[in-house]
Amino acid sequence: MSNLKGRIQEIYDQVVRRNPGEPEFHQAVKEVIETLGTVLEKHPEYVEQKIIERICEPERQIIFRVPWIDDKGEIHINRGFRVQFNSAIGPYKGGCRFHPSVYLGIIKFLGFEQLFKNSLTGLPIGGAKGGSDFDPKGRSNNEIMRFCQSFMNELYRYLGEHTDVPAGDIGVGGREIGYMFGQYKRLTNRYETGVFTGKGLTYGGSLARTEATGYGLIFFTHEMLATRKQSFDGKTCLVSGSGNVAIYTMEKVQKFGGKVVACSDSNGVIYDKKGIDLVTVKRLKEVERRRIRDYCEVHPDAEYREKGVIWEIPCDIALPCATQNELNGESAAKLIKNGCIAVAEGANMPTTPEGIKVFQDAGIMYAPGKASNAGGVATSALEMQQNASRDSWDFDFTEKKLHIIMKKIHASCFETADTYGCPGNYVIGANITGFRKVADTMIAMGLI
Ligand code: GLU
Repeated sequence: MSNLKGRIQEIYDQVVRRNPGEPEFHQAVKEVIETLGTVLEKHPEYVEQKIIERICEPERQIIFRVPWIDDKGEIHINRGFRVQFNSAIGPYKGGCRFHPSVYLGIIKFLGFEQLFKNSLTGLPIGGAKGGSDFDPKGRSNNEIMRFCQSFMNELYRYLGEHTDVPAGDIGVGGREIGYMFGQYKRLTNRYETGVFTGKGLTYGGSLARTEATGYGLIFFTHEMLATRKQSFDGKTCLVSGSGNVAIYTMEKVQKFGGKVVACSDSNGVIYDKKGIDLVTVKRLKEVERRRIRDYCEVHPDAEYREKGVIWEIPCDIALPCATQNELNGESAAKLIKNGCIAVAEGANMPTTPEGIKVFQDAGIMYAPGKASNAGGVATSALEMQQNASRDSWDFDFTEKKLHIIMKKIHASCFETADTYGCPGNYVIGANITGFRKVADTMIAMGLI
């Protein structure tokens, strides 16, 4: 085992050396490979076949120029990315993120996480991620459209329903997918519905895809709470963010009898003791594309904390649904001090390694995003199924499928953690389950 520990450390050091200046990617790799010691012990073939070394190296990385013209006629140059991480178990699959913080390291961490997440869904999808450092904030519809078209002018050649299937992520929703799909169709002269997911309902989109990440998160958390004879009923919850994932997380928490008292955006936090009013949040965010501070115009007794930290508000359950590393060790300690019993991630890697350690040392329930937020991509795979059969399912049918998938993901993480001697440790459960399917497939396919 100590030999294996040394080997894992060597692999990690090599990843850091080969990918300088990409701390988020290093963090994602470290979190996974640190948990694989016992698997490598049981399966020396993974070591002999250098599976971890292969998995840490993306199959293909595409970086390209995205020039576009704003409404005033000024030219802008952004950088586009697509990292096709691994296609052992299916075509590359994963969203695109448009945010000024995007650089290669962010896309690589997201692609790496996506690989394990997609494997966990039990569906045949490989891992990828893409995006751009384009900042959509304050941009007009026409500017967004011109950017999406320019982005697609290069990216289209690497996509295909059997090759690589992008979707949304931060800054990319139904509107952006529509513009990208439209441009893909023009460039290829193919009505290839299965090449994107998160599409509009009139051109191959799936009912329940918009809601899926948030709903799935709550289905998973419900299962996790049940392992300790707990439920959402009467619980106070914090949901960071106010985008698509946060909105449908809040909706489902309310359906399960919980009360969400706070949400946020990158400017500040809304604390509404009476419970967040979702109609207002949906109108502000989905229709009017405004900031969360405007919530107080409708609810003057709610409190807005500019640049506030949501995790300082007392709660039973914390659901980080904003972005990576939004919950650090200090915030984690605060949550524990205030009596929080469970944390489940809707965002990708929202908790820092120090934060995770605080939760694990305190023995509270903690669900890593790659398991608990997998409902979004799982429903994307359901959208692909519908596209492949030229069918469209109703909302309830699709939601039921999502529910079953989330229960299965929970069960497999829970059981794997048990089998590998770490009961209740969902990090180990998720990483090992996700890894093994990809690793076994890579061995079966020869040196790929
Ligand atoms: N961006 C989402 C995620 O992080 C969804 C990806 C997809 O549907 O392909 O899983």
